[in-house]
Formats: sequence, C-alpha cells, structure tokens
Amino acid sequence: HIADDPVADAEREVRDWAKQKASEINTLKEQAQFRKEFLSNISHEFKTPLFATQGYIETLQDGLIDDDPEIAKSFLEKASRNLDRLSYLIQDLDEISKLETGIISLSIEKFDIVALIKECIEDLESKAATNNIKLRYKGKSQHAVFVKGDRKRIQQVLINLIDNSIKYGKKGGLTTISIFPLFDQILVEVTDDGLGIEEKNLPRVFERFYRADKSRSREIGGSGLGLAIVKHIIEAHEQNVNVRSTEGIGTTFGFTLEQAKGH
Ligand code: ADP
Repeated sequence: HIADDPVADAEREVRDWAKQKASEINTLKEQAQFRKEFLSNISHEFKTPLFATQGYIETLQDGLIDDDPEIAKSFLEKASRNLDRLSYLIQDLDEISKLETGIISLSIEKFDIVALIKECIEDLESKAATNNIKLRYKGKSQHAVFVKGDRKRIQQVLINLIDNSIKYGKKGGLTTISIFPLFDQILVEVTDDGLGIEEKNLPRVFERFYRADKSRSREIGGSGLGLAIVKHIIEAHEQNVNVRSTEGIGTTFGFTLEQAKGH
C-alpha cells in the first residue's frame, strides 16, 4: 500500500485547475470571435440591400422620375425588391435568435407528414414554375403517415429546403420529396438536380450566414440563415439532418422525424 503523497496531490490539483481555466478562457475567446463575426456578417447583409435601395431612390429624386418614367418604374421595383430582402432578413434573424436562446418551445403533436409535404408543394408550386422547376412527392405511401413533431416548424423546414431547391435548381429541373420508414423514425428527403455544392463546402452549409459560392449566391439572393434555422428546428426535435451533394448533378437534404405509434 502506497502512502498518500500530499505534495503530489496538491500538484495534480493545481494542474487540473490550470487546465480547466485554460479551457474556459478558450471558450470565452471563441465566443468573442463568434460574436464579432456574427455582427460583421449581419451588418454586411443589411448594408447591401439598404445601400441599393438608397441608390435607386436618390437617382429617382435627382430627376429620373420625370425624365424617364419607364426606367423610373423599374427602379422602384428594384428598390422594393431590396426592401423585401431586408424584411426577410429581419424575419430570419428574429427566428434564429429565438431558436438559439430557446425562447421558442415546440408544440408537439401527431400529424400526417404526407399531407404536410403535399401542402408545401402546393404552396411553392407557382414559385417553382417561374424557374421552370417541377415539384413532386415521390414517397411510396400515398396514405397518411403519422409522425410526432411541431407541425408548423416542420412545415418551415420543408419550405426552406424546397425553396432552396428552387433557388439553386436548374431550369427545367425536378425536385422530389420522398419519405422512407426507418425503425422508429421517418426519413424525409428533398432532392434536386441543380447546381450542387462543392464537397469542401458541404460541412459548412448549416452555419448561419454561410453561403457556398459567394458570387452565385449573391445573385440568387437569400440570407444564409435558412439552413441554420432548419438545423435548429430538427435538433430541437432531437432528430438528425444531413446533406449529400455532387456538383453539377444535384443535392439531397434529409431529416428524420419520430414515427407516431398507433393511429
Ligand atoms: P441562403 O439560401 O439564404 O443563402 P441557406 O442557409 O438556405 O441560405 O443556404 C446556405 C447555402 O447553401 C446557400 O447560399 C447555397 O450556397 C447552399 N445551398 C443550399 N441549398 C442548396 C441546394 N439545394 N443546392 C445547391 N446549393 C445549396
């Protein structure tokens, strides 16, 4: 039996304490860096549409409104589109801050996921048509499939994913939404045959404000918050979300839901 060594014990305690503090300091540093990036991202995202709107309005005030009513009209439309973008950005920000601070509680109910998918398709069909993209439900079951979750929030998840498939899809393309029964879960997949995402960018697409191809994404428009919101909602359900993609071939986003037992 080895006798206690109070000096060695004390040394170990000090070492552990120092390790613990070092890791706490690291966490604080990371949080500070994160906040800095977050703020700089937000201000950048706001500046672009705001300055654009200001530019259009100033040109109109400088006489364009009388000189060329036709172009003036198109400037007003552009200003209005930029304001729309600002308003979507604010809505998304509001949403994500609520999700991150946990202010939002889920209201879990049993609902039919097939019906919800068909509803979302109907709501987005005309938007898809403007990009010449078709939306199809391709699940095996045409009957009701019951899951447990917050229906409104899952609707938001589906809308964000289908909306992305329209934004980043190719003209004349097809988006399919399928469901697959797992052991006690249902897997929902949204697949497009669009631009795809470079493999090196895949792990980052769920980060807030992350937009894969900057120039391409700027043209397409968006907040870079849609997938961060999706991830939050699915993780709040204690379920999983994932993505696989091949550039030039297409992308599949999948998420699971808890199967509701019994009918
Ligand atoms: P947003 O679409 O507003 O930029 P998201 O968080 O929804 O923000 O998406 C983040 C980025 O992931 C997008 O900017 C885009 O580069 C990429 N992305 C998302 N969905 C798709 C998709 N279906 N096909 C190709 N790229 C996608």
